Amino acid sequence: MKLLKERIRTEATVIGSQVLKVDHFLNHQVDVDFLHKIGAEFYERFKDEPITKILTVEASGIAVAVATAWFFHVPVVFAKKSDSRNLDQDTYTSEVFSFTRNNCYWMKVSWRYLDAQDHVLIIDDFLAKGRAVQGMIDIVHQAGASLAGVGIVIEKGFQEGGSQLREQGINISSLAIIESMDENHIEFRDQ
Ligand code: 5GP
Repeated sequence: MKLLKERIRTEATVIGSQVLKVDHFLNHQVDVDFLHKIGAEFYERFKDEPITKILTVEASGIAVAVATAWFFHVPVVFAKKSDSRNLDQDTYTSEVFSFTRNNCYWMKVSWRYLDAQDHVLIIDDFLAKGRAVQGMIDIVHQAGASLAGVGIVIEKGFQEGGSQLREQGINISSLAIIESMDENHIEFRDQ
């Protein structure tokens, strides 16, 4: 997606060699008009699938998932990362290692919101080592639901998540794939 690559080039900051910061439009301040375009793009890519639910994980996946769900007219379910008193006890759970926080957490989705009738599109903002997406795929399987595919806004192609998931035959579509990056330059994969 050309516009996304332009915004990454002009607005993103690279932290170290592994982390990209896009707080201007995606991860802190959210540009809703731009997210609308991202949602439309995911719709174009997955519209032939009979999707019934969009699954993401809190917090930063929610905005993108909602923008996408407007086009599909289906509910968004977001996996919760922490226990809270108002979360049902009956949950699908999967243990996930967090790339950004460097620790493990339990991803949870209530039995109420995902079942064997669902055909699920997973949406997330970033794909790095693939643990968050693997956790969500695990939850889709636990629910007995089917997986339509995975839509990612920014994939860091130099980390292993994307290649591992593609080797498993998962249909992943990333709007921008970064081949390499440092403080001075970001190189995108031709798509
Ligand atoms: P993974 O599980 O694929 O290793 O990491 C994906 C998750 O970590 C995403 O849900 C995203 O929130 C976060 N993440 C991974 N890499 C980055 C990054 O470079 N920048 C930001 N802002 N988040 C990232």
